[in-house]
Amino acid sequence: MSFVELGLNAELLKATQRMGFEHPTPIQQMAIPPLMQGRDVLATAMTGSGKTAAFLLPILHNLMGKRRGTIRALVVAPTRELAAQITEHLRELAGQTGLTGAAIYGGVAMGPQEQAFRKGVDVLIATPGRLLDHLQYPYARLDGVEYLVLDEADRMLDMGFLPDVRRILQRLPKERRTLLFSATLPAPIVDLANDMLKNPVALNIERKSAPAVGVTHTVYPVSHDLKSHLLVELLQKGSPKTVLAFTRTKHRANRLADFLERRGVACARIHGNRSQAQRTEALLGFKKGRFQVLVATDIAARGIDVEALCLVVNFDVPHMPDDYIHRVGRTARAEATGDAYTFVSPEEEGELRAIERHIGKRLPRETLTGFDYAKRPAERLEIPIAERIAAIRARKSDERSRAKVNAERRGAQGVPSRSADGKPAWAPRGAQQTRSAGPKREGAGLAWLRQSTSRPAAGGFRREGASRPAFGGRSGSPR
Ligand code: AMP
Repeated sequence: MSFVELGLNAELLKATQRMGFEHPTPIQQMAIPPLMQGRDVLATAMTGSGKTAAFLLPILHNLMGKRRGTIRALVVAPTRELAAQITEHLRELAGQTGLTGAAIYGGVAMGPQEQAFRKGVDVLIATPGRLLDHLQYPYARLDGVEYLVLDEADRMLDMGFLPDVRRILQRLPKERRTLLFSATLPAPIVDLANDMLKNPVALNIERKSAPAVGVTHTVYPVSHDLKSHLLVELLQKGSPKTVLAFTRTKHRANRLADFLERRGVACARIHGNRSQAQRTEALLGFKKGRFQVLVATDIAARGIDVEALCLVVNFDVPHMPDDYIHRVGRTARAEATGDAYTFVSPEEEGELRAIERHIGKRLPRETLTGFDYAKRPAERLEIPIAERIAAIRARKSDERSRAKVNAERRGAQGVPSRSADGKPAWAPRGAQQTRSAGPKREGAGLAWLRQSTSRPAAGGFRREGASRPAFGGRSGSPR
């Protein structure tokens, strides 16, 4: 089937040609005809399947040549990156049609986004939280919406956005078309679909979520401490141009990025503790080839769509099998090919087995020839928590025994004892007096004590029994 056969508007056909789309992908072939006929759609689509164009093309087709100046389509997406990605896709597809769009997400100023509402762009692409922020104001109206798309609905569920989505639904006209895209269909998403969709066309519904075809999966068993060294060696041996490496936590992402930078690897990082400007900068630099490696956490990586992404590295095995599918779906997008490496430490074997069960096959194990798997690295990415606690205990015990030896030595010399932190410890009165500067010094200490206890209850210090000013009332007044 060709795009021409789908009966799309000529300007949209030109856009698909400009973007180098030769044929519609399976999800596009299945979703576009019912959407052009005005049906609701529930689609379980693989990540990288071309689902964005599957919903944007028919919506744009239907919006063309109709009244303008009001928001007529709303796309809700779980992350800023995905919202930005969809907006970019929209700009490319709608380029010559005259239709307009805008992205609404957090981490950037509200002002320009307010203008999008006031002007009434044709398509609004929004993350739930920021959209609700705008919806508190009278300028933010969605009563002209004819199409609602919920993209990556299962991820919205994971991120706790479903209550927000339901609040947004209350602001939309009941009479509208609704499209729900989700990689998987857990029960709450099925409930939401039942509430939102009218007689939907269900696509791929029986399909179990699976990684995109064209991905070559390889597992590298390696100890926790050697993961970063193995990555550096793999980068040196294979010289992949674009590598997306996933870590489990933001801290590990930072540490890995620092480690790679110290070894001269051009590297950027993207995670929840980075500002929107930093994330955009990192992604842009990566897309332009300024960085060989982009280190990311799962949430931040949603929506990252880099053409010709060579390699995805699961630096840490993801907790959930679905995350594995989403991660490796960043390579081999739209039927291209790519590699996915997973570094598995002995502690992570159980999680890897869960992934293998989910995708229904055992992933091949590899060892990197020439890599010293037995070496004990001088520099480690992270000291395991148990080791850190043991080190703190050993240090404390060492300090205690040193303090004891010192105290015994001082006792023998007639010097007052000191605690482990070096401050004078409680000692018999007689012993202290041998070291004090006499009555004058003692008197100065008492003067300070007297002064502070007789000071009025201001500046946060209050004597026991002093009258407390009532909150917002006059100082000293009875409560
Ligand atoms: P998506 O699943 O929407 O995130 O799309 C993944 C990638 O596939 C994007 O880079 C699209 O530009 C690309 N794509 C979408 N449709 C097609 C198509 N028909 N032929 C080739 N690439 C496509």
